[in-house]
Order: sequence, then structure tokens, then C-alpha cells
Amino acid sequence: MGGCQYIGPEQVEPPYTHCGREVFPGKSYCEDHVWVVYKKNTSVGNKKKLKEIEKELAEIKLIEEVEEIINA
Ligand SMILES: [Zn+2]
Repeated sequence: MGGCQYIGPEQVEPPYTHCGREVFPGKSYCEDHVWVVYKKNTSVGNKKKLKEIEKELAEIKLIEEVEEIINA
């Protein structure tokens, strides 16, 4: 066992096929699917959307870092 636990949304009946790729550290999903699960409302498999989410998260992180510097 192990590997990404992600099941595509088009799989509505067993047997399910798990993604099975190497998981993102600390998660049950691979690097691609951790974002899909994180943003369930976005259309699955939409790479462009996922890239936007990653960018968004990177920006949030950057803002946090800047605020830390300001508040220091
Ligand atoms: Zn996966």
C-alpha cells in the first residue's frame, strides 16, 4: 500500500483506482492531488487553476514573511 489515495471524481463505483503516486510529505496525496483536495471546488485536473492556487499560496507566504519583518 501507500501512495496517493486520490480517486478521480468520475469514479463513482468500486473498484476504485487510486492514483498511487509518491505522496506529498505529511499528506495522503501526491503533489498534484493535494491541491485538488485542498481546493475541492475547482474543476479537477485543471492544471492552470492549480498553478493559480500554488501562486496564490506563494503570495500569501510572501505576505506573511513581509509582515513578520515589519512587525519585528
Ligand atoms: Zn495523486
